[in-house]
Amino acid sequence: MTQAAYRSPWMDDELEMFRDAARRFVENEIVPNDAGWREQHHVDREIWNKAGEVGLLCTDIPAEYGGVGGDARHEAVVVEEMGRRGITSFGHMVHSILAHYVLNYGSEQQKHDWLPRMASGELVGAIAMTEPGAGSDLQAVKTRAVRDGDHYVLNGAKTFISNGLHAGLVGVVAKTDPTLGSKGISIIMVETKDLPGYRVGRVLDKIGQNGWDTAELFFDDCRVPASCLLGPAEGQGFMQLMRDLPYERALLALGGVAAMEYALALTVDYTRSRKAFGQPLIQMQNTRFKLAEVKTLAHVSRVFIDDCIARLRDGSLDTVTASMAKCWITDTQCRVMDECLQLFGGYGYMREYPISQLYADSRVQRIYGGANEIMKEIVARSL
Ligand SMILES: Cc1cc2nc3c(=O)[nH]c(=O)nc-3n(C[C@H](O)[C@H](O)[C@H](O)COP(=O)(O)OP(=O)(O)OC[C@H]3O[C@@H](n4cnc5c(N)ncnc54)[C@H](O)[C@@H]3O)c2cc1C
Repeated sequence: MTQAAYRSPWMDDELEMFRDAARRFVENEIVPNDAGWREQHHVDREIWNKAGEVGLLCTDIPAEYGGVGGDARHEAVVVEEMGRRGITSFGHMVHSILAHYVLNYGSEQQKHDWLPRMASGELVGAIAMTEPGAGSDLQAVKTRAVRDGDHYVLNGAKTFISNGLHAGLVGVVAKTDPTLGSKGISIIMVETKDLPGYRVGRVLDKIGQNGWDTAELFFDDCRVPASCLLGPAEGQGFMQLMRDLPYERALLALGGVAAMEYALALTVDYTRSRKAFGQPLIQMQNTRFKLAEVKTLAHVSRVFIDDCIARLRDGSLDTVTASMAKCWITDTQCRVMDECLQLFGGYGYMREYPISQLYADSRVQRIYGGANEIMKEIVARSL
């Protein structure tokens, strides 16, 4: 008996229609531009508005706040459709994560102010936690938000910020009280347009994910209204970040699974057509065994992540499970990319072959979104 076609248990017919729309958008608007975006190190700004127009932004934000009104599965479909074409240039995932912070912790006024503009693409979202001296150790952030009447005065420098170049709304992790450790951290939502003291530094030159703008951000005496504090009181930033981690980690891992599935398909095609010693590569035992291993790893990852997506939707995905998924799947992703690239021989090392980009794009998956060593710490604490 041959293997039956696999369909994620969380998929349904309505989602298939949504998938068709997402696929058309990716094929028509993203794939043809991706090489150019990789060259210039950022997407064209208009793609955000186009994605908003066709309902691909804020897909799981309620319609009353301008979102599509779907759930985590809709967001999952968008992640998969990007992943199945190896697209890493368009930072919709970070945008969605920021929208979730607003949805989960913002006041009604904040939700109505920001979410509709995020859903339309008018505002691009970014999350600014990392600083030159503080990455995994978030409590070490130095950015300060000091209350001054009806405003906060923000000072600090952030680095590695995805969507940094285009960001119109940045969730800035800052200390409102440096004496209180994690309880002194708050998220200040900063609208960047024409904000005195706000500056985008370099768009960073990475070894992969070159089409995605990863930038330095600087805040020099930026005055933002006190109403831009996320949540009802200062000091809740750390808790807000921690509570939303399962969402971020599950989506990152899902992107990894989609990329593995794409790499497998590319490699099967290539090894069928490439001949050596008078036979297609795929007929050699080593190739067949390697591809069998890759297929198994991708499938195990798929089943695990599908369970996570279903649990994300019903609200039962816990931080430990999401951390296991992020860590194991992204480690596996890198292993899979390495094995697949090897089967392309020298062509796998050439940029014109998508497998080379998949290989380079994957590497950072083990670093951002919480480095995998931190994921293991979280899992280990649950033992
Ligand atoms: C392409 C890219 C995009 C990014 N996007 C964003 C973004 O949008 N917003 C944002 O805020 N940040 C972003 N980051 C930053 C990212 O989240 C950090 O790089 C990551 O958290 C690791 O921090 P660090 O680079 O300072 O490394 P460090 O924290 O200095 O870690 C270095 C190494 O030490 C290990 N290590 C650290 N602590 C421990 C520990 N307790 N036990 C064991 N090992 C440990 C780490 O796992 C890692 O291997 C991005 C980074 C990249 C590369």
